Amino acid sequence: MSATLLSSLPFEEFVSLMQSIDTILTDCDGVLWLENFVIDGSPETIDLLRKMGKKVYFVTNNSTKNRNEFLGKLEKMGFTASQDEALCTSYLTACYFQEIGFKGKAYVIGEKGLCEELQKVGITHPEIGPDVVNTGLVDLVGGFKKDPEIRAVVIGFDLHYNFVKMLKACSYLKDPNCIFIATNTDERFPMNTENVVPGTGCIVAAVEKCAGRNAVKIGKPNDFLREVLIKHHNVDPKRTLMIGDRGNTDILLGTRCGFKTLLVLTGVTSLEEVHEWQKSDDPEVRKWVPDYYLDRLKDLSGLLNKCICSTPDSTSK
Ligand SMILES: [Mg+2]
Repeated sequence: MSATLLSSLPFEEFVSLMQSIDTILTDCDGVLWLENFVIDGSPETIDLLRKMGKKVYFVTNNSTKNRNEFLGKLEKMGFTASQDEALCTSYLTACYFQEIGFKGKAYVIGEKGLCEELQKVGITHPEIGPDVVNTGLVDLVGGFKKDPEIRAVVIGFDLHYNFVKMLKACSYLKDPNCIFIATNTDERFPMNTENVVPGTGCIVAAVEKCAGRNAVKIGKPNDFLREVLIKHHNVDPKRTLMIGDRGNTDILLGTRCGFKTLLVLTGVTSLEEVHEWQKSDDPEVRKWVPDYYLDRLKDLSGLLNKCICSTPDSTSK
């Protein structure tokens, strides 16, 4: 399998590709913006996709914001969206609890946005935020009494993650019936700094290691999103295009879910890496190779404009 430069497709083929797509899923950081800077031309390109009748969903593994806060970020970056078009892992984690019919109390390693989405589906939790160590190990361990009502552990990004939280989470997880969910497993934040910024995946890996169990993972590249899209949004995976900047999350999600995939080179993954993956003997690695790639999302806009002008009826659905 090899990736095709989307803008090199003959125009008729591009038109027929667009006619085969109803739904666009787009990653945000690295595709639409980089940290707090919008990537030139991205809002206009999303507008053109909508003009062609495509339903656009914004997908992020970020678990720190609730859906309204995520909408606020989209708006600040120049994108209009409705709540149902904003798919963040805080919301998707809450959907998962609904799906399995769980209500009650959970131990949460995470931030306010995640807790707010969980509360909307009937899940309560002990107070989040700093849980400081103010005693020695023996007293710390002896002083912690498990809350018998807690039957689930949820892990998202938590700036205050520490030893105490790991101790508590893993003590609950000692019960094999305790549900164990992680919002996402991104190793690092793609921030423009010389330092390393650990992501949620590092917290999840530490707790999994200590608990001796694996969490159910919600965010990209896990295919729970596909279930939500089919069940709650009536999306047809075969008529869906996933746009992203990372092979092992965005594109892998698309491959697993049966979406068409488009990689943009404004974020994490480079074209050199894609070429390496194409040659890999490992079939899992080859799943990171997109169907199409573009230097940047904006490169779609000329083709989309041409579609809209030349075949206004046949390109919109
Ligand atoms: Mg990204």
